[in-house]
Amino acid sequence: MSRREHIVIVGGGIAGMTAATALAHAGFAATLLEAAPQFGEIGAGVTLSPNAMKGLDFIGVCEDVAAAGVEPQRQRVQHWQTGQTLVEMDRTDQRRRYGAPYVTVHRADMHAILVDAARSAGVTLRTNAAAVAVQGTTVHLADGSSVSGDAVIGADGVKSVVRQRFEPAAAHFTGHVAWRSLVPVTPTLADLAYYPGIHIGPGRMITRYPVRDNRMLNLVFFARQPGWTEDGWTIRSDPADLAAIYAGWCEGVQAMIAAAATEPLYKWAINARTPLASWVQDGAVALIGDAAHAMTPFLGHGAACAIEDAVVLARALAASSTISDGLARFFAARRARATFIQAESNANADRMQGQETDLFGIGGLRNEESLGLFDYDCRTVPV
Ligand SMILES: Cc1cc2nc3c(=O)[nH]c(=O)nc-3n(C[C@H](O)[C@H](O)[C@H](O)COP(=O)(O)OP(=O)(O)OC[C@H]3O[C@@H](n4cnc5c(N)ncnc54)[C@H](O)[C@@H]3O)c2cc1C
Repeated sequence: MSRREHIVIVGGGIAGMTAATALAHAGFAATLLEAAPQFGEIGAGVTLSPNAMKGLDFIGVCEDVAAAGVEPQRQRVQHWQTGQTLVEMDRTDQRRRYGAPYVTVHRADMHAILVDAARSAGVTLRTNAAAVAVQGTTVHLADGSSVSGDAVIGADGVKSVVRQRFEPAAAHFTGHVAWRSLVPVTPTLADLAYYPGIHIGPGRMITRYPVRDNRMLNLVFFARQPGWTEDGWTIRSDPADLAAIYAGWCEGVQAMIAAAATEPLYKWAINARTPLASWVQDGAVALIGDAAHAMTPFLGHGAACAIEDAVVLARALAASSTISDGLARFFAARRARATFIQAESNANADRMQGQETDLFGIGGLRNEESLGLFDYDCRTVPV
């Protein structure tokens, strides 16, 4: 493959890094523009289901990311008040069942691997390069300079500047607020780390999973809280707020709140996007990842979709004789799945945070695994 069209990618998160690497491997010249002064990710975890890991395999980093993370063997869904296990999910054998592992990993560890992969693939990586507008296939930067290519890919997240070409609306507040903390696994938390999972209750839920060789536990507390709409990733919060919101929740939850009080606790509003009619404009500008379809995190699939988009985009462009055709094929291949996952993520919040916690899972579970999301293979899906 000796394609040398120049693709400019705006945003160096999971979507942008994966796309830039896949495009460079396919022979395109790729330039990635990141607004931040340096590449990095926040101090928190991310779950990468087998379908996401297949995408990382496509760019050659599946085993590196798996080695940097943890492959949990089981997960529990537990009752908010009693702590009783409502559903237990078997996560053994994921590699055999789905062709790739199920991994929980520190975001910064994974991102460092993605940056190395992009660099090795020959991607031109630029930091301090904040896009302020896109005209044609020219990206205008905050410092007054500009970068032009044959195509522009908007991978600039939920508040995407590139998306402004597609619709004037900003991201909307979903009514969900989240708190996160990364805490050491102490003897008190050992069982919660050994059995990662979710406590669910009316209007609230908590997820936990280990990262960094089971030494750290990633905690995310969710509550429906109209009125709070600040979504910065680094807004500190008072642990007393959590204690009040989760008053009456079981002993395990109180142990997690006590642990969160010993480490930085951050609070942010969860924003999302409504589906667009198209993620492609003028045959030369396209959106991927959160810029295209930011969703609520209740199926744990935003990053997975970002990786899938990136791989399918590169494959569709490589398989097409023109960029316009490639972008059209990318959108056709990805639209239904991403839109379905967006809708199911919202529905899953309602299922898990309903009033009748005791009845959860009775009559069958509707989650990311039972919905068949793990079976998807972005390496081979028709484009
Ligand atoms: C609480 C929570 C938990 C989650 N857990 C999971 C999970 O377990 N599994 C999962 O699959 N997903 C999860 N997600 C979703 C996942 O984090 C996102 O979907 C994913 O990070 C999106 O990647 P992205 O690259 O599209 O966007 P981002 O990660 O937002 O990256 C965008 C990048 O673009 C840069 N940028 C922004 N604007 C500009 C600009 N104007 N110019 C240049 N650069 C710019 C940013 O600095 C950033 O580096 C979770 C989300 C939340 C809120």
